[in-house]
Amino acid sequence: MTSITIGVLALQGAFSEHLQLLQQASDLVANDYQDQQLQWHFIEVRKVEELDRCDGLILPGGESTTISLVAARSGILEPLREYVKVSRKPVWGTCAGLILLAESANRTKATGQELLGGLDVRVNRNHFGRQVESFEAELDLPFLKEVVGPDSGTDKQPFRSVFIRAPVVEKILEPQSGIQEAQSQLADTVVAPSKAATTTGPKVGEWPVEVMCRLPGRAKALRDREVTASEIGEEGDIVAVRQGNVFGTSFHPELTGDARIHAWWMKQVVQSVQ
Ligand code: GLN
Repeated sequence: MTSITIGVLALQGAFSEHLQLLQQASDLVANDYQDQQLQWHFIEVRKVEELDRCDGLILPGGESTTISLVAARSGILEPLREYVKVSRKPVWGTCAGLILLAESANRTKATGQELLGGLDVRVNRNHFGRQVESFEAELDLPFLKEVVGPDSGTDKQPFRSVFIRAPVVEKILEPQSGIQEAQSQLADTVVAPSKAATTTGPKVGEWPVEVMCRLPGRAKALRDREVTASEIGEEGDIVAVRQGNVFGTSFHPELTGDARIHAWWMKQVVQSVQ
């Protein structure tokens, strides 16, 4: 019997929705682990003792400034950093969670916000505007094939996602073991503090940043009818990235009821445990 514990940071934001979807996703992956009698535990994380029990961690959407301030006050900020950058356990950040996992973020300096870091990217907060400018879009996520299998017929179904004051990855940075020095010189920018590299961890650049999804110009054009897809360009905005143990999405998969990304990520956690 293997027991796997997944935590959701529960200081602020949409943590209970993640817990619900994790539960749903455990049914989706049940077949894959029939022989191993895998037992899942999903827990809310507010204290270091709870974090220590987790084989993987989700940082939910919400308000990244609030989450970082509450984390600092409750003494879990530094342990979270260790978890991501030294222990290198699987971590997934959605929306505000992605901001916290970035090595550099703009529009942050005045608020006293801190970043955990882990992803060598620069994020642009509130990229699509304010709350009232929230929108939904259908995304093509080829990696979901691993969850449903090519024969189920559902592998090509687009993933309906929700963007609420969402960030995008505006720049992929050169991986560095120290601080992102050049970024720290930029105006209104906060960078994550560096962490000493572990002897067992990958060397700098060994884990590149992978772009996992771009939001097609079409979706943005749907939201703002005055902009056409061709004006925006074919590439589109980067809304999902992975670098080694760290995964980040701009959008909120926990608000759609579609558990496929959770199922995919849970499989990554199983791999890392094994
Ligand atoms: N704009 C928010 C922030 O900066 C994130 C929004 C969200 O998580 N839905 O933290």
